[in-house]
Amino acid sequence: MEMYNMLVFFLFGVIFGSFYNVVGLRVPKGESVVSPPSHCTVCDRRLTAIDLVPIFSYLLLKGRCRKCKTKISPIYPFMELMTGLLFMHSYAIFGFSKELIVALLFASLLVIMTVSDIAYMLIPNKIVYPAFVLFIALRWMSPLDPWWYAFVGSAVGFSLLLLIAILSKGGMGGGDIKLYAVLGLVLGVWNTLLSLFLASLIALGYGAFILAKRKQKRRVPIPFGPAIALGAWISYIYGEQMIDWYLRLF
Ligand SMILES: [Zn+2]
Repeated sequence: MEMYNMLVFFLFGVIFGSFYNVVGLRVPKGESVVSPPSHCTVCDRRLTAIDLVPIFSYLLLKGRCRKCKTKISPIYPFMELMTGLLFMHSYAIFGFSKELIVALLFASLLVIMTVSDIAYMLIPNKIVYPAFVLFIALRWMSPLDPWWYAFVGSAVGFSLLLLIAILSKGGMGGGDIKLYAVLGLVLGVWNTLLSLFLASLIALGYGAFILAKRKQKRRVPIPFGPAIALGAWISYIYGEQMIDWYLRLF
């Protein structure tokens, strides 16, 4: 039964992930998420039902448009797979509980902002503002202990990122600052700090890897979004254990 539920959550995640790709790509450009229907951005070929099966279609088409053979970015099937795994993980951790709703919507936000950040290097207000309102409502329904932890977390996340932005003179986008106000609501104070620490580690590691691989001396802008998303998810799920473990070292 448990395995069956996990599979159902995975499949739902994959289907939602397919929609989140569309949201992440279209909302920043001010386009509707329903019209026009999905099409190849190069030859305009409208995608038919068989092209729209998440992950599967990408594999079937070997990652190319059916008509013009333009390469389709592997990021899209990857994000579909990730959403599936995140939904499954949410269920595995929280079961059928109020926090499961928070977890599923949090995973959704992280996927959408990652897609948007990879595509445009920005996290649009049209995503961050509604998410802020939504998670205030969700933290009222499924509060942290104590309840005000969410709001202090939000304030800490926002102020800290603002400070980094000022000190680094524009190294941090306005979208990132506002996003941390949302992450703080979900994570609370300590996990917000942990998530920022993890995101920095991940971004540093990834940056060093890219630099070594490309042998480029000049600074290439690296989207920070995927690192933020990964850091936020790890601290959301494992933050308390990690902090406990850390404190026991002393
Ligand atoms: Zn095409």
